[in-house]
Amino acid sequence: MVVDKLGEFYLCKKCKKIAFAAVSAQCGHLFCSTCAEESDNKHKGSICPACNQKIKHLTFSIHERDIIRRMDVKCSACNFNGKYFEFLDHICKK
Ligand SMILES: [Zn+2]
Ligand SMILES: [Zn+2]
Ligand SMILES: [Zn+2]
Repeated sequence: MVVDKLGEFYLCKKCKKIAFAAVSAQCGHLFCSTCAEESDNKHKGSICPACNQKIKHLTFSIHERDIIRRMDVKCSACNFNGKYFEFLDHICKK
Protein backbone atom coordinates (compact mmCIF):
# COMPACT_ATOMS: atom_id res chain seq x y z
CA MET A 1 0.00 0.00 0.00
CA VAL A 2 1.29 3.44 -0.90
CA VAL A 3 0.29 6.53 1.03
CA ASP A 4 0.93 10.09 -0.04
CA LYS A 5 3.43 12.25 1.84
CA LEU A 6 0.81 13.94 3.98
CA GLY A 7 -0.08 10.58 5.38
CA GLU A 8 3.32 9.91 6.91
CA PHE A 9 2.32 11.45 10.22
CA TYR A 10 -0.37 8.82 10.45
CA LEU A 11 1.96 5.89 10.11
CA CYS A 12 2.73 3.82 13.17
CA LYS A 13 6.24 4.76 14.29
CA LYS A 14 6.99 1.12 15.09
CA CYS A 15 5.78 -0.92 12.12
CA LYS A 16 5.60 1.98 9.60
CA LYS A 17 2.14 0.93 8.50
CA ILE A 18 -0.96 3.07 8.72
CA ALA A 19 -1.84 3.31 12.39
CA PHE A 20 -5.23 1.63 12.33
CA ALA A 21 -7.01 1.99 15.68
CA ALA A 22 -4.43 4.64 16.45
CA VAL A 23 -3.17 5.52 19.89
CA SER A 24 -0.84 8.42 20.57
CA ALA A 25 1.95 8.69 23.10
CA GLN A 26 2.39 11.83 25.19
CA CYS A 27 5.08 12.95 22.71
CA GLY A 28 2.41 13.15 20.01
CA HIS A 29 3.55 10.20 17.90
CA LEU A 30 1.04 7.65 16.71
CA PHE A 31 1.11 3.89 16.98
CA CYS A 32 -1.35 1.24 15.96
CA SER A 33 -3.00 -0.32 18.98
CA THR A 34 -1.34 -3.71 18.41
CA CYS A 35 2.17 -2.23 18.47
CA ALA A 36 1.34 -0.11 21.51
CA GLU A 37 -0.02 -3.12 23.40
CA GLU A 38 3.09 -5.12 22.55
CA SER A 39 5.44 -2.59 24.04
CA ASP A 40 3.08 -2.02 26.95
CA ASN A 41 3.00 -5.65 28.00
CA LYS A 42 6.59 -6.65 27.43
CA HIS A 43 8.51 -3.76 28.84
CA LYS A 44 6.76 -0.92 30.58
CA GLY A 45 8.18 2.43 29.69
CA SER A 46 9.40 1.62 26.20
CA ILE A 47 11.04 4.25 24.01
CA CYS A 48 9.30 6.01 21.15
CA PRO A 49 11.36 5.07 18.06
CA ALA A 50 10.61 8.43 16.42
CA CYS A 51 11.89 10.79 19.10
CA ASN A 52 13.60 8.53 21.67
CA GLN A 53 11.38 9.75 24.45
CA LYS A 54 10.13 7.37 27.08
CA ILE A 55 6.49 6.49 26.44
CA LYS A 56 4.70 7.32 29.66
CA HIS A 57 1.11 6.97 28.61
CA LEU A 58 -0.95 6.25 25.53
CA THR A 59 -4.30 7.75 24.66
CA PHE A 60 -6.90 6.75 22.12
CA SER A 61 -6.78 9.12 19.18
CA ILE A 62 -10.40 9.41 18.10
CA HIS A 63 -9.70 12.42 15.91
CA GLU A 64 -6.71 10.79 14.19
CA ARG A 65 -8.64 7.56 13.72
CA ASP A 66 -11.29 9.50 11.85
CA ILE A 67 -8.73 11.18 9.62
CA ILE A 68 -7.02 7.86 8.93
CA ARG A 69 -10.30 6.22 7.92
CA ARG A 70 -10.87 8.90 5.29
CA MET A 71 -7.29 9.06 4.07
CA ASP A 72 -6.55 8.41 0.38
CA VAL A 73 -4.57 5.25 -0.18
CA LYS A 74 -3.39 3.27 -3.16
CA CYS A 75 -2.89 -0.44 -3.33
CA SER A 76 0.67 -1.29 -4.29
CA ALA A 77 -0.41 -4.51 -6.00
CA CYS A 78 -3.39 -3.44 -8.11
CA ASN A 79 -5.12 -0.31 -9.39
CA PHE A 80 -7.20 0.29 -6.27
CA ASN A 81 -7.31 3.94 -5.31
CA GLY A 82 -9.65 5.08 -2.55
CA LYS A 83 -10.22 5.77 1.11
CA TYR A 84 -8.58 3.72 3.82
CA PHE A 85 -11.87 2.38 5.21
CA GLU A 86 -12.67 1.13 1.70
CA PHE A 87 -9.24 -0.42 1.49
CA LEU A 88 -9.95 -2.50 4.59
CA ASP A 89 -12.61 -4.34 2.60
CA HIS A 90 -10.40 -4.50 -0.48
CA ILE A 91 -9.45 -8.04 -1.36
CA CYS A 92 -6.60 -7.93 -3.77
CA LYS A 93 -6.66 -10.42 -6.60
CA LYS A 94 -2.88 -10.69 -6.56
ZN1 LIG B 1 2.26 -0.57 14.33
ZN1 LIG C 1 7.66 10.25 20.02
ZN1 LIG D 1 -5.13 -4.49 -4.48
